[in-house]
Amino acid sequence: MSDFAKFNLLAPLQTALTEAGYFLPTPIQEQTIPLLMAGRDLLGIAQTGTGKTAAFALPILDRLGRHRDRLGHPANRHKTAPRTTRVLILTPTRELASQIDASFAKYGRHLRISRAVVYGGVGQQPQVRAMERGVDVLVATPGRLLDLINQRHILLDKLEVFVLDEADRMLDMGFIHDIRRIIALLPEERQTLLFSATMPKDISSLAEGLLRSPARVEVSPPSSTVDRVDQKVLFVDKPNKRHLLHSILLQEEVHRALVFTRTKHGADKVTVDLENHNIRAVAIHGNKSQGAREKALSDFRAGHVRVLVATDIAARGIDVAGITHVINYDLPNEPESYVHRIGRTARANTDGIAISFCDADERPFLRDIERLTRREVAVDLDHLYHSEQAAKGPGSAPIKKPNGGGRGNAQPPRRGGGNAVAPPKQGRAAAATRRFSAPAARLSRGGGSMQ
Ligand code: AMP
Repeated sequence: MSDFAKFNLLAPLQTALTEAGYFLPTPIQEQTIPLLMAGRDLLGIAQTGTGKTAAFALPILDRLGRHRDRLGHPANRHKTAPRTTRVLILTPTRELASQIDASFAKYGRHLRISRAVVYGGVGQQPQVRAMERGVDVLVATPGRLLDLINQRHILLDKLEVFVLDEADRMLDMGFIHDIRRIIALLPEERQTLLFSATMPKDISSLAEGLLRSPARVEVSPPSSTVDRVDQKVLFVDKPNKRHLLHSILLQEEVHRALVFTRTKHGADKVTVDLENHNIRAVAIHGNKSQGAREKALSDFRAGHVRVLVATDIAARGIDVAGITHVINYDLPNEPESYVHRIGRTARANTDGIAISFCDADERPFLRDIERLTRREVAVDLDHLYHSEQAAKGPGSAPIKKPNGGGRGNAQPPRRGGGNAVAPPKQGRAAAATRRFSAPAARLSRGGGSMQ
């Protein structure tokens, strides 16, 4: 049984969650779902990457999915009227709008829920048509929504739930007047949710006028956590990461270590490699059965295994005391994840150590992390596998052999004007360098799916 069962969500939602590989609710889901199911208004202080979309989408879908007949059609009282929507989610960008809509499609796939997305920069006719019969869920950006409202293609008088997502970003982007105009059209009787990563004054005053005795949920870890953790970055070439990990786990005072990888496959590989070197380790990620995850956790908690290898999502919701080291085998592409990861050590006022491996492709991720935390991570040069290439960043990465047989760090660095390299090849060399750094671009924000 998944940990989502306790929320008593409709069975089709629980099925969809199992299919999506969600077993443990993230902290914001844990706190928010029961409040929203009880009909409360909500002020959520949370960033993207925390699982906030499911935190609001699941209770909303649950509400929409009730009052259906046996075939899944809405009971009469809840039929959608032409051009209306029962739920409106306002979000600042079209990318976010599409992502949110995709989440509703994913979680609601076993319910008959009608949806529409509305944003600017594309023709309005398909959006007008999508709204003709009315929908259950409309995700929109403010400008185009107002246009369509002004042309009477969309009516808000049947609205039951209003979500204002990424409110601080909306304000930064100058949407405040549009938002106020939209809010003025909402029916009094409704459930309202406001999410924002930060809570500047203008957001709290907006919230005050908008929400009715809201519950407040905050999931970003306090910045003091970041300050209490002793953080280091070790520059290393990708193929040497495993050797570096062995050496740290063998030499340091590592009582209980949580090792983060980007992918499920990576977690398995690291675990097998550690076991092959007689370092006991277990992996936990979305492909493991609930039983296997629980066993791994209890072994780790009990101290039978001192290394737990995890992906970001799998590690959420895990609360294990006494983690002395967090090791970022791969740096996360979302800087917020770094803060979450290192917050796993330094619990309950203890200090912890966070060690991050950084290869040449991961330099942009390190830069994003330093921007977010507003501090430089100290560089530790005192290890066997220090890589100057990685320290310099992706532009200086060595060139991979096109046949893929070359190991990145096995190549001697090219020297400018070297007589072994004929000038015409420089173009190809530049292309190869671009190819080499391509994965970093692909992995950047919003790229690969969370594991
Ligand atoms: P969000 O913060 O809503 O953008 O979600 C971040 C990512 O986490 C998305 O890719 C979701 O599909 C995924 N996700 C959200 N909740 C869970 C969960 N409980 N278990 C696994 N993955 C999740």
